[in-house]
Parts: sequence; structure tokens; C-alpha cells
Amino acid sequence: MDRISKLEKEIIDLRRVLSNKEKELYEIKKEYTQQQANIQIELETQYTPYNNAVKTQYGDNLPKWAVESSIIFLCLHIAGEIGIVDYDAVELTNIHRQILHGEGDQHMSKAESAAQTLRSINSRITITPYNVQLASSNAMDIASRYDVVLDCTDNVPSRYLLNDLCVMSKKPLISGSALKMEGQLTVYGYRSEKNTNEKDAPYIGPCYRCVFPSPPPPEAVGSCSANGVAGPVPGLIGCLQALEAIKYIVGHTHGQLLVERMLLFDGEDSSFRTVKLRARNPQCAVCSENATISQLVDYEAFCKAQAKEKKKQEARLKSERRKQEKEKRMTGQSYYGFRVTKFADTKKWIQDVPKSERRIGPACTSEFCAKGTARFCSHFTEDQRQEIFSYFWNSLDWKGKKNYVRGLVDSVPPKRRRLKHKGEVSRKGDSKLYHLYNKDERQPVCRLMFLNTLGIKEAMVRCWLIKEDKPKSPKKPVKSLNVDSYIDNLPKEPTKCQYCLNSGCNIMYVCLDVKSQHQLYNKYTKDMKAKNIAPASRKTFSKVVLKKNVRIFKPKNDTDVCDLVAQHNVLPSLGYQNLQKNELENQNVSINYYYNAQCGPNIDPCVTPIVISSSLLQTVDLNLHILPPESRILPDQLAGKVNADLNSKRRHLLVDVRSEPEFNMCRIDGAVNCPIDNLHGARFEQLLERIRNCNSEVTFICRRGNDSQIVAKKVLEAIEDEHRSKITDLTGGLHAWSKHVDPNFPVY
Ligand SMILES: [Zn+2]
Ligand SMILES: [Zn+2]
Ligand SMILES: [Zn+2]
Ligand SMILES: [Zn+2]
Repeated sequence: MDRISKLEKEIIDLRRVLSNKEKELYEIKKEYTQQQANIQIELETQYTPYNNAVKTQYGDNLPKWAVESSIIFLCLHIAGEIGIVDYDAVELTNIHRQILHGEGDQHMSKAESAAQTLRSINSRITITPYNVQLASSNAMDIASRYDVVLDCTDNVPSRYLLNDLCVMSKKPLISGSALKMEGQLTVYGYRSEKNTNEKDAPYIGPCYRCVFPSPPPPEAVGSCSANGVAGPVPGLIGCLQALEAIKYIVGHTHGQLLVERMLLFDGEDSSFRTVKLRARNPQCAVCSENATISQLVDYEAFCKAQAKEKKKQEARLKSERRKQEKEKRMTGQSYYGFRVTKFADTKKWIQDVPKSERRIGPACTSEFCAKGTARFCSHFTEDQRQEIFSYFWNSLDWKGKKNYVRGLVDSVPPKRRRLKHKGEVSRKGDSKLYHLYNKDERQPVCRLMFLNTLGIKEAMVRCWLIKEDKPKSPKKPVKSLNVDSYIDNLPKEPTKCQYCLNSGCNIMYVCLDVKSQHQLYNKYTKDMKAKNIAPASRKTFSKVVLKKNVRIFKPKNDTDVCDLVAQHNVLPSLGYQNLQKNELENQNVSINYYYNAQCGPNIDPCVTPIVISSSLLQTVDLNLHILPPESRILPDQLAGKVNADLNSKRRHLLVDVRSEPEFNMCRIDGAVNCPIDNLHGARFEQLLERIRNCNSEVTFICRRGNDSQIVAKKVLEAIEDEHRSKITDLTGGLHAWSKHVDPNFPVY
């Protein structure tokens, strides 16, 4: 019995020894495998920040959490060596999200503080803090001591630096990142040849550059990070990063590691996904056979330059696209419109709103239109409508479209604007009368018919009509002191042109060897730059030159006339200086400018206005004398001729050039309406033909006798000699008619 119990005791002891020996062997084996792998942790959070937004917004969040959680888990599982790179110091202001530092560590190097904390967790591992800024100059040296690199950085240049570093030293890069509520994790630059568990043919995973050949624009990085990052997200990514590192160390194959795959975590719905990444790029700038980068470069400069280039390229594409879409819009094709997004204080225009192509709408089926006589909706066949539609969208350019619509829509002021209270202005707008051409005849149709046939919206019509009516904003005074004095000091001589001298316009000619105003401007900019003064713009310069009545072209001799002769002939009293614009504005009249078609080559048409606005003429009695006396007729003369014609077979043709609503309001009996604004193209030709066929005289009429002169002049220039003598213009217009012939004729 003693022997039995003795053996039993021996077995128990041996078992204990065996178990201890097994434990010892296991520990030795474990330590042996783990010591083969050293791990470097990149805690380099503020290495040359990509931009300030990145640094302050998510820079401080991601790397600390990520790296701290990864270091802690690595420390718990590894008996090797860990290096920590961080040049920052511990600050109380951000200690709340940093689990490796305590309040007592303030002002201590973060790398040192982290190392201390980690040693207290696991004293068997060697932890080396690197209190330096990781850069191209020191990265190779640090990395050469380790086998795996964890990228916990927060900025794009560091990512490229670490990637190139790992590719060149053939070490895997375990890369984690987090934005807002999302995290990403993947392994770059994995090489199978170091792993004995890999049985397939040699394999190399993609590097960061294979996936992202060029860095994103800084503002894209900045805007994503504007909301920072939720602390636990990078913490979670850090844990998984540690797991990938451990898996790599213990020999997991590339199919088991996150190689050529990216793990995506979405904190919004707590979901994980894995997406496939691009395989290794055979043209990769750093990891391919055709690599162009063989040493570490200045990554901040690289990113900036790339971003700049990319931005330029994007701007080019954007403007190209804008042009294309505009072209499509103007020709009635489907296109993409703009929408505006507000981000903080900056507005951004994005062109992604699909707009359908222009289509002809259904014809008017209104019984009201069909019954009445005022609208001709039912007179148009579908073919005619289609013809109008395609003419409008295919044959007219944008300006032509505007004018076409303006020519077809009449604004009729309301008969009375009833005001509830004194001083309140009625908001009742003008009524619109719509027309369409039916074989060149302008026929009234209803609004629906008009809009549907042209395939446009009412807002477009209103916009086009308003823009035409809007008076030009008064010109701001030219801020051009240096131009003023420059022109004053130029050598000049007075004009010898008799017309100019007679009209007293005081033109001066520049005595310099310049042949054009452009050359003079070039000389001016050169002189200004020599004096270190910023030159005024070409436009401003041009305005001042005109204001000062200075000309470049000199008449060759005393009998020569200058290019202003036409203007002097036509308007003896209306020089630029005589026009007291401010005075007119104070009287609250709207000014429309009519540009003198004869202005010379060096006259800026913008500033040589001949004022023809009727509202202005009411205030300042400017009677233009465009036509010679023999082409004008006084009201009583005209009345006599019209009456004489009534008793014969001759018919005196009275052409009223006012707008249609004005014409409908009041007119001389027998007059025909040819609004001045519509007199071009076919309409003008029709008028000429009518004049040619007229067996009596032709008189042009308008309200005050100015527009009619313009039309008469245009007709005189266009028509054959033999018809010219019968053309006259009613001097003083209908106002004079009312005064001298028919006192009952309404004056407005
Ligand atoms: Zn690559
Ligand atoms: Zn209708
Ligand atoms: Zn002159
Ligand atoms: Zn002259």
C-alpha cells in the first residue's frame, strides 16, 4: 500500500514539474517569436501640419487616442521593443482626451510621458521615446531599428512620408485614420517574402501611393475635419490597429490581414464594412519597378505643389464645363444648373442640378380665345408652332432670343394706379400683351399660347423685359488723380479743325510720338511704374482722356477736319462737358443713353452720350437737329398736305414710331405704327418697300420729334436716291401737332 501511495505522490509531483516545464517552454517559445518583431509607433501628430485646420480640428484627436490604445494593447501582448515618436509636450488643455498622460506630466515630452506610463503597465518590454519631429532626414534612421510601423498621424504629408519610408525599407505600414464618426484601417506595403506561412507566389500589397497617387486639395481635408472626430472612434481604430500588428507579428497571411482591403467603421449606425482596394499599381511612383521616387523628399512641399496643380486642373475643368453647360442652356438642350451651398461663411456654387431640355408645350385650347376676336391662338397650326419653336431655339443666338421676345411682348401700363393712401405707390405692374408671328404678321395670342409655343417660362420673359427697361446705373466718378495730372502735364497743342474751333469744344492734341490711345496708355503705365505708382486701368485712363478732351490723331493741315466733325455737325450744343449729369439725376429723371453711331475710333462710346430719353427731354428741352431743314416739316404744313391728299388719290403716309401702347392711346388719323425698337431686319425692309410704293410723301412722327428723326435718318441712308425727297420728319412731334394744329390732341 505504501508503494501505491508513494507512486501516486511521485506522479503528482512529476505532473507538476511537467506542467512547470511546459509552462517554461511555452514562455520561452512565446518570448522567442515575439522578440523577432519590434514595433515602432508613429505618434508624430504635429509633424509639419498640412494646414492649420487639420492641426487644430482633428489633429489632436485621432493620433493620441489611436496610438495610445494601440500602444496599450501592444504592451499587453508583446515582449519586444516599442519606439514612440512625438515632439509635442503634454499640455493640460488637451489632457482630457489623452489616456497615457496624467496631470503631473505637464510640460513633459509626450513621447517620454507615454513611455513611462507604458513601462508601468508592462516592465518587460523596452520602450524608446523619440522626442523629435519625424522628417525625411531622421525617419530612415529611426525606422531601421523596427519591423512594423503604425501610422497614427493626422496629416497628409506625414502619410506620404511614412508610406515612402516603409516601401523603401520594405516594412508594412499599418494605417489608421478617423474623421467625425468614421474610421478606416488598412495595411499598406505588405510583402509576403518575410512570412514563412505564405505558401503562394511572392506577393506585395498596394502602398498608400498606389491607392492615392496624389494628395487631396487642402480644403477637402480641412472641410472634412471641421467637425473634428468623436474620441472613441480613433480609439477603436487604434485597438484594431494593434490587432493587425499582432496578427502580422505572429505570421498571419495577407488574406487574413487587411491587405488590399480597407475596414470602414461608421459610428453613426455602428457598422463595419470592408471594401476592396486597388491592387498594387504597376506604375506607382514609389513601389513599382518604374518608381520615380527613390529617396525621401520634402513632403509638405510635395503636397502643396500637387494640391496647387490639382486645384488648377479642377478650375480648368470647371470653367470648361460651365461653358459647355451654358452653351447647352442657350440652345435649349438639357443641362446642369447651379445650386449654392453655404458652408460657414463661404458660399459655394455646385453645378449639378439637372434641367430638362426645352420642349414645345401644348397649344391653347381655351374657348375664350377661340370665341373672341382679340386673340389668334386658334390661327396657328401645329406645324407653324413647331416652326416658331425651332426658329427661336435653333436660329437665334441668346441676344437674338431676348430681342425676339421683347419684340413680341408689349407692356401696357394700367389705366389707373389707384392708391389706397397718399404717398403709397401702387404695385400693380404693367399688363403684358403677347404676340406670335403668323407669316410675318404679328398676331396677338394668350400668354399660355405664347409661352408654350416658345417653350419658355413667364419668369424668363419678365426678366428680359425688366432688364431692358432698367436705366443704366449712373457712372461713378473716376478715381484717377494720377491720370488727371499725368494728362494735364502732357505736351499738347490746340486743334486746328475749323469745326471744333467753331463749336468751342477745346479739343487738345497730344504732341507725342504715339499713334493710338493704346500706345499712350502703355507709355503711361511705364512712366507710372518708373515712379512706383500703381497705374490706373485702361478703362479709367480712357475716360480721363475723353473727359480732358484730349485726342491722339491730329488733323494734317488747317483745312483738315477731325473725326468729330460729324458730331459737331449734328449736335452743335451737346458736348460731353455740357451734359450736367448730376444735375439731371437730382431732378430724378431716368437717363437712357443713345450711342452716337458716328463716334470716332478713339471715342469711348460709353461716355459720349446723346440723350434721347423722352423723360429727360421733358425736363431739359433738348431738341435734336439730326436732319437738315429740307427733310423736316412743320405741323401746319403737314396738316395742309394731309388735307390736300384727302381730296386726291394720293395718300400721305404717316409713320408713327412710338411704341404700340402709346400709339393705341392716341394717334393722328390714318397713321401707321412702326415702333422704333422693332425697326430692323424684315420689318425695316417692309417699311422701305412701303415707302417706295407710296405715291405721296412720307412723314415720320413721334412724341417730341426726336425718335422720328432717328428713324427718318436711318431710312434716308438705306433708301434709293429717288425716294429721298418725299421723306420728312414732323418737327416737334405730336406735342407740336397739339400746339399748332389740334388743341384737342392729348399731350402726355
Ligand atoms: Zn505603390
Ligand atoms: Zn389662347
Ligand atoms: Zn470738337
Ligand atoms: Zn474737329
